[in-house]
Amino acid sequence: MRASRYLLSTVKETPADAVIASHKLMIRAGLVRQLASGLYSWLPTGQRVLNKVQAIVREEMDRAGAQEVLMPTIQPAELWEESGRIDQMEGQMLRIKDRHNRDFVYGPTHEEVITDIARNELKSYKQLPMNFYQIQNKFRDEFRPRFGVMRSREFVMKDAYSFHVDQDCLSAEYENMYQAYSRIFDRLGLDYRAVLADTGAMGGKASHEFQVLADSGEDFIAYAEGGSYAANIEQAEAVMPTGERAAPTAEMELVDTPNAKTIDQLVEQFGMPIEKTIKTLMVEAAEDSEHEIIALIIRGDHELNELKAEKLPQVKAPLTMASEDKIQALIGALPGSLGPVNLKVPFIVDRAATLLSDFGAGANIDGKHYFNINWGRDAEIGEVADLRNVVAGDPSPDGVGTLQIVKGIEVGHIFQLGDKYAKALGANVLDQGGKSQTMLMGCYGIGVTRIVAAAIEQNHDENGIKWPLAIAPFHVGIVPLNAHKSPEVMEVAEKLYQDLQAAGFDVLLDDRDKKTSPGVKFADMELIGIPHRFVVSDRGLQNGLLEYKQRGSDEKQEISVADALQHLK
Ligand code: ATP
Ligand code: MG
Ligand code: MG
Ligand code: MG
Repeated sequence: MRASRYLLSTVKETPADAVIASHKLMIRAGLVRQLASGLYSWLPTGQRVLNKVQAIVREEMDRAGAQEVLMPTIQPAELWEESGRIDQMEGQMLRIKDRHNRDFVYGPTHEEVITDIARNELKSYKQLPMNFYQIQNKFRDEFRPRFGVMRSREFVMKDAYSFHVDQDCLSAEYENMYQAYSRIFDRLGLDYRAVLADTGAMGGKASHEFQVLADSGEDFIAYAEGGSYAANIEQAEAVMPTGERAAPTAEMELVDTPNAKTIDQLVEQFGMPIEKTIKTLMVEAAEDSEHEIIALIIRGDHELNELKAEKLPQVKAPLTMASEDKIQALIGALPGSLGPVNLKVPFIVDRAATLLSDFGAGANIDGKHYFNINWGRDAEIGEVADLRNVVAGDPSPDGVGTLQIVKGIEVGHIFQLGDKYAKALGANVLDQGGKSQTMLMGCYGIGVTRIVAAAIEQNHDENGIKWPLAIAPFHVGIVPLNAHKSPEVMEVAEKLYQDLQAAGFDVLLDDRDKKTSPGVKFADMELIGIPHRFVVSDRGLQNGLLEYKQRGSDEKQEISVADALQHLK
């Protein structure tokens, strides 16, 4: 690629809502542009990376024996009624009507559609197992899209679905996918953990998430070094006994706000089901707004409740602090039918506490403390004690070592679904005895666009992105210096460009004219994160030499023109 004919679109400024490194760098390096909230266009550099991620995913899925298909993004709403998931997905699902007034949804996931295919195409146990995958856009109307493509509304997912006649076969394919995912994330050069996960809205029994370790992650992972145990903390809490926790020491003060509402009032107002399944009261505070808390989500064991709760209005409250006993009071005021409640405060504890006070102030307190209090994030004001059920230092459930807790970005998720969808949609095959039998299913997702952001979270410095070679938009950059004064410089650069491409490298030749200074060219190469860089200069050529530098290293090497290609191998 010649830079003169290429939309580099590097910029200095980043939007105010870009708070994490990958979001800022994806804008600055010209990878994506926001069209509307949670909707991103991928510019040429971003698309090159995305293509490489997809190619790796595709290769490993094919190697694992899965078959690629492509399903429509738009799905008939009836299919979701048939599976019984239409209400569960309410909120996250974008619903549309066609010109005949028929109901459709923009697919947030494709269990229903693939099960429809399976019930029509698969007839006999002899055809099984089969695993189908696609790489395709999904739309989820996220409550608060954020962090750029990390949590967007339209995003690219690789979703796969396998069909089986018995549990052994499903278990074997699950293991096969686990291995394929491990190969994918290894090849992508990511530092990740496979962790036990909640099955959530998908249902089923076994589930693992693949979590890229990063401080900007929204999930918490508990694992023990050297042991075999690693779990999403949501899952870890489900299996851990509630330990004695140190009393919180924070001195906080409650401020009564005129809009205070009890959970009961909210339930009435928004018609949320009060079920035992509601487990977590989640308060989200906006990191970017100094004085406001902007969102509240109540979510439960089932995403059902999370989604219902997305109907809650944005709650705004001034930045103040509430006392721990007032939070206790709030918890006491929650209806007993809620069962154990976890309070999760993702960002900033004091703001979240204020929001709690918004709900708790003036409510009846009947002193139930059978609730678990769970601060889902490390308290960001130092004095607040960690109230999670599972904390660093707890013994690992497998008996090996003690748990550490780190943050992760969920880039993949695999499930054993069992017969949930096949049963609802009547997807049967004839078994060995000629009897009709419901198929068992597994499903396997990868956040393809999210991977690009996650990779940047793990690979950047103050100058920009440092791509792992496997997904770099270009492997090599060539900067000819003062080419307008020296035809030989341009000639050598041009030849190198051709030779490297012929050898299979993706090369960016910065042939922009003298209006673009060498400093700007170097800065762009660093920002875009090209792993290898050659500089061709008049001075070097006098001795037949090029300058070589690796992204992330300060060391520059002199290399003879003839050895350039060999040097990269
Ligand atoms: P999250 O917990 O982050 O909301 P999820 O558990 O809802 O994700 P899954 O239903 O497991 O997501 O979907 C499979 C994969 O799709 C996820 O592991 C993630 O990598 C990706 N993904 C999900 N939601 C988004 C989103 N809003 N933007 C980008 N990628 C997403
Ligand atoms: Mg989600
Ligand atoms: Mg998740
Ligand atoms: Mg998931």
